[in-house]
Amino acid sequence: MVIETKQADTANARTFEQFIGGAWTPGTTGETYERRNPANGAVVETIPWGDAEDARKAVDAARVAFDSGAWSKAPATQRAQVLRAVAAKLREQLVPLAQLLSKEVGKPQNMATAEVAMAADVYDYYAGLALDIKGDAITNFAPDAVGLTVHEPVGVVGVITPWNFPVLLISWKLAPALAAGCTVVAKPSEFTAGTTFELARIIAEAGAPAGVVNVVTGPGNVVGAELAASPRVDKVAFTGSTAVGKTIMQAASGNLKKISLELGGKSPNIVFADADIDQAVAGSFFGIYLNTGQVCQAGSRLLVQESVKDEFLGKLAAFTKTVKVGDPEDPSTTMGPVINEAQLEKVVRYVHAGQDEGASMLCGGGRLTGEAYDRGLFVQPTIFDGVRNSMTIAREEIFGPVLSVISFGDADEALRIANDTIYGLAAAVWTKDVNTAFGMAKGLQAGTVWVNAYHSAGLPYMPYGGYKQSGIGRELGHEGLEEYMETKAIQFKLG
Ligand code: NAD
Repeated sequence: MVIETKQADTANARTFEQFIGGAWTPGTTGETYERRNPANGAVVETIPWGDAEDARKAVDAARVAFDSGAWSKAPATQRAQVLRAVAAKLREQLVPLAQLLSKEVGKPQNMATAEVAMAADVYDYYAGLALDIKGDAITNFAPDAVGLTVHEPVGVVGVITPWNFPVLLISWKLAPALAAGCTVVAKPSEFTAGTTFELARIIAEAGAPAGVVNVVTGPGNVVGAELAASPRVDKVAFTGSTAVGKTIMQAASGNLKKISLELGGKSPNIVFADADIDQAVAGSFFGIYLNTGQVCQAGSRLLVQESVKDEFLGKLAAFTKTVKVGDPEDPSTTMGPVINEAQLEKVVRYVHAGQDEGASMLCGGGRLTGEAYDRGLFVQPTIFDGVRNSMTIAREEIFGPVLSVISFGDADEALRIANDTIYGLAAAVWTKDVNTAFGMAKGLQAGTVWVNAYHSAGLPYMPYGGYKQSGIGRELGHEGLEEYMETKAIQFKLG
């Protein structure tokens, strides 16, 4: 698929090739496609539009690299050294990488820079854990036997990722996979593949042998599906929508490959009357609008205790009106565009659904138009009050800057509403009462609960993942490393 473009549109556009077995290759089909900047329509990069044959070649390369032992059996010190070198190179190349990331996703430059910096830290973190992979000795069950547990890399890993944090989320997979000794075939999102190719280049330059990390691009339901179904792939690590996660789970059943799935959410953000209201307003604002609301763990259902609702919403709406939507390259911009036309239409459709089902719009309301916006895909940050948890905008993941506000009377009601969802990725509670905080934290069905914070309380490597239909498995922490290892039990009979 080659799209015709005007000369001016393509200035500074990059061209990438598939990265297979340590070599750049145009791919089997020879076809390409162009990714345009969602802020202004300019071409950012040209990417190979590959097919299942590319995926198979990449799996072969990863298989050969794994079976050779050059990486899987390398001393832990060597793997740690490579991971540390990746972190250092990411920091050295922070500015150009963040610029490419900003253009692919449309996120403001400072947020793109923060994302690359956080990704660098993840490689350092797993460099440390690579040195600490160890098992147990079991000596107390029988006098004439000794047991050992050892951890071994799971094998070839298919890594399939979305577009919203394309450098960070893939690093949550690559860093532990490489620390464990696995080899990888990565299939990034069609919309943000350039940064993944750049990451593969950096990992190769940092000293990972050929075939340890391969990157193939093309349609998800062809290239990604091949990785999910391949009998030569031992595990798939996927981040994306719940619908595609289910497809991957089915495809993976052919050879019962291991899966980890990081999926969608509709996370409750719960504000009690005794909370520090100004802090909770700022946190709720950040909770929903970060990355134009395109965050799996976004606090998209705001539950506010009745007695403070009016005060709280007055402050939140005033805050929301200060958002500066616009050009991600302008340092004063606080919110960029949405990722593509389909996402824009989806957001607008949900805004209409909110209105049709009787919610009252407090601010915002759909697409932004006018000279500053017409070349891009910009939407207004929107708040709906008077939402019932049964409404479409409270049940479905919008993945845009649209907040649904639901009021509650007491903690039991808040918990019931919060848990009444198919998702269970994250939740937050704002209160000064330690009993309320612990009671809610224990009762919430979610993989992460923040108390008096949203997105993070400043603890970057805690295990991350979903309850219910938000996923299977955990990323980050020791748990994130274990996802890439098998445990072997060895029993010695003595004497
Ligand atoms: P998506 O599910 O459409 O696509 C994700 C990836 O899967 C892409 O690389 C895509 O090409 C690929 N894909 C599509 N169809 C496939 C198939 N049949 N087989 C194999 N691969 C296939 O998601 P998206 O639109 O890129 O991202 C948004 C979604 O990701 C949201 O639902 C969001 O909640 C979720 N997400 C979850 C987390 C988390 O950590 N839980 C983080 C970020 C995003």
